Amino acid sequence: MRLPRPRPKLDQENSAFWTGGAEGKLRIVRCGDCGNYTHPPRILCRHCQSENVSAEPVAGTGVIDTFTVNHQPWAKDLPVPYVIARVALDGVPGVYLTTNIVNCPVEAVGFGDPVRVVFEEQDGVFYPLFEKAD
Ligand SMILES: [Zn+2]
Repeated sequence: MRLPRPRPKLDQENSAFWTGGAEGKLRIVRCGDCGNYTHPPRILCRHCQSENVSAEPVAGTGVIDTFTVNHQPWAKDLPVPYVIARVALDGVPGVYLTTNIVNCPVEAVGFGDPVRVVFEEQDGVFYPLFEKAD
């Protein structure tokens, strides 16, 4: 599935997130002081305001927290139906990614399903999507 995706403007805060897929890594900003994660990426910890943060690779697995199936053809090149899901990342408490579930029929997607990240590259941006892990 190739969706026409809005291209993020890469900057100091978010480049590690959008380009980590080049190395197969999902990188999430973590605070070196309090240990908490911040997403979307910031150069300040959202928990303690520390600037001692860095984008660290995480497992790239998670579970489907919630999802919806889109049947609306928003663009002529956009095949429907597709799944928009919120994925709770393993080992990254409090971080959820809004993403698509790919590589399976929409009927196969369920709440709580384990998933793993796959990257879709478009012009140097690596979009983190997820597929079922079992
Ligand atoms: Zn912190």
